[in-house]
Amino acid sequence: MLKIGSHVSFSDKGLLNAAREAGEYGSSTFMIYTGAPQNTKRKPMESHYIDEGKQLMAELGIGEIVVHAPYIINLGSYKEDTFRLAVDFLQSEIDRTAYIGVKNIVLHPGAYTDKDSEYGIQRIAEGLNEVLKNTKDVNIALETMAGKGSEIGRSFEELAAIMDKVEHNERLTVCLDTCHVHDAGYDIVNDLDGVLQQFDRLVGLKRLAVVHLNDSKNPRGAGKDRHAPVGAGFIGFQAMQAVVQHESLRHLPFILETPWIGRDDAKSRPMYEAEIALLGETVEQRFGASFLEDTARLAHFFKKQEVDPRQYVLGVWDELKGPDAQATKGKAKDKNKDKREPMERLFDIVEEAGLFADLTEEQINHRITAWFAGVGS
Ligand code: FE
Ligand code: FE
Ligand code: ZN
Repeated sequence: MLKIGSHVSFSDKGLLNAAREAGEYGSSTFMIYTGAPQNTKRKPMESHYIDEGKQLMAELGIGEIVVHAPYIINLGSYKEDTFRLAVDFLQSEIDRTAYIGVKNIVLHPGAYTDKDSEYGIQRIAEGLNEVLKNTKDVNIALETMAGKGSEIGRSFEELAAIMDKVEHNERLTVCLDTCHVHDAGYDIVNDLDGVLQQFDRLVGLKRLAVVHLNDSKNPRGAGKDRHAPVGAGFIGFQAMQAVVQHESLRHLPFILETPWIGRDDAKSRPMYEAEIALLGETVEQRFGASFLEDTARLAHFFKKQEVDPRQYVLGVWDELKGPDAQATKGKAKDKNKDKREPMERLFDIVEEAGLFADLTEEQINHRITAWFAGVGS
């Protein structure tokens, strides 16, 4: 069985809340941060409802889950205090991960800032050597990065170079992020086999431990790292489905880090439940026959207007690209129709036509997500 889930919240009642949220989306795995990803404030593990969470996970049939290390860790920094904090905090994060009994902690390798990539790789390896020596049990899954700024990990060669320089690298694994590799230039849309062969040659497929499933708001090679909901970006549903079903990947936990969608940011909702059901092919069990009827209606409605989902999505992103497209958020975006993203525009069209008067914005967006996946057409 496929393991598909999303990033969920670990705040309040820790693992219990995380499992409950994952259950609401129909997940069979999930990913947590052990605290805020931007800071080092952490509560003692005893206060995170670990036993209760594990019991609920067992009831929900959730086995393997994943921890993500916080962004503030930068093992690539030349600054002594930043590097020291990164090493020390990663070690304590690994201890917390071990406490929960989780096998892999995902880590952004690091950024070289004012130095160069050679320096960054060396520094990251130095940090990993120390961290691995002082910890046990947990694997560190180096994430493939998009290549924005001075990020290390934009190529399989860079990941291999880090691993080469780490003495006991048995506990180094890899988290393959679909948005990041696409943004870094790898053609997973047209040549997934070729990309994975290249990965196998340089790093080794056996190192793969986690997949982050994200579509991308930018064309291949853009080096941007902006996630889109599944089907709402340049990768597209079909290519993401091929990732999930690939024989070299299908045994791994697949984690969605896709953005939430809604008219205003406060009321935005995740598309996870629909994304999980579509990729896991459990739509009818999960949402019932009426969902399929609604999506067929939606497909018919758009077909009459000659709107093709793929062409529409790519067309809007193409129109939005440009210097200020990246900067608009929240209210400013609402007021400016030209800045609305593909799913938001599609929602506007559906709402204006009064197609689903009884459905919430979230329910309509779930059906738009299904339409991206070819349901009903
Ligand atoms: Fe990440
Ligand atoms: Fe990721
Ligand atoms: Zn990302």
